[in-house]
Amino acid sequence: MVILVTNDDGIQAPALRQLKSALADLGRVVIVAPDRDQSASSHALTLYRPFRIERPEPDVYAVDGTPTDCVVVATHGLIDEAPTLVVSGVNHGPNMGEDVFYSGTVAAAIEGALNGLPSVAVSLVARRSDEVDWTEPARVTRSLVDAVLHHGLAPKSLLNVNLPWRGGAAYEGIRVTKLGQRVYQDSLITKTDPRGRPYYWIGGDEPVWVDEQETDFLAVSEGYVSVTPLMLDLTHHQARAEMRKWRLSI
Ligand code: MN
Repeated sequence: MVILVTNDDGIQAPALRQLKSALADLGRVVIVAPDRDQSASSHALTLYRPFRIERPEPDVYAVDGTPTDCVVVATHGLIDEAPTLVVSGVNHGPNMGEDVFYSGTVAAAIEGALNGLPSVAVSLVARRSDEVDWTEPARVTRSLVDAVLHHGLAPKSLLNVNLPWRGGAAYEGIRVTKLGQRVYQDSLITKTDPRGRPYYWIGGDEPVWVDEQETDFLAVSEGYVSVTPLMLDLTHHQARAEMRKWRLSI
């Protein structure tokens, strides 16, 4: 059984190696990851240029592309054995609430689910500047992968996992949560370059969250591992019923 491990932080991310050894007793772990940091690349697919794939060592592939590209090539013949399950992560940084729409980590797991594979996205809620130890995140990921292999996941669904960074202290436990809601404080920074042309930088303060029970954000802020089951059907069924009353015509 092949467990496909990918990420959006890039092939050099230390979490990948930690995950590879933590998952080794469950199956053959194959890493297919972008050759550089592709964070916030969402579900981008490389269609308008060719790309290369390096294999620095057996069962480790570095793709000159996005996390989605990695899952596409891995499920379409790159590996001599088709993957059974996809693990994306462990990402260095949170992927909670509406941020799942920007996340390359979550997108790779979505791509796995689109290909009919049980898929798990895992993120560590730590700042990029935090010196983190990946041992515990990898251990928790292994236990969740084990549970997914045992119970299976509904078709077209995935798990989005966020782990608190507690500086070495133990987790409080684990909670099955729903996506929280972020209060966006993004701002557009406009400056002028040395040639007098304007340039832009999307910035923003630390995210603020709506105070709500049972959310991923609340679980993580209280020291719990958060597991949110997501489904790919974005259809708003209530709105469909409401819109029938519009009697749309063309
Ligand atoms: Mn990332």
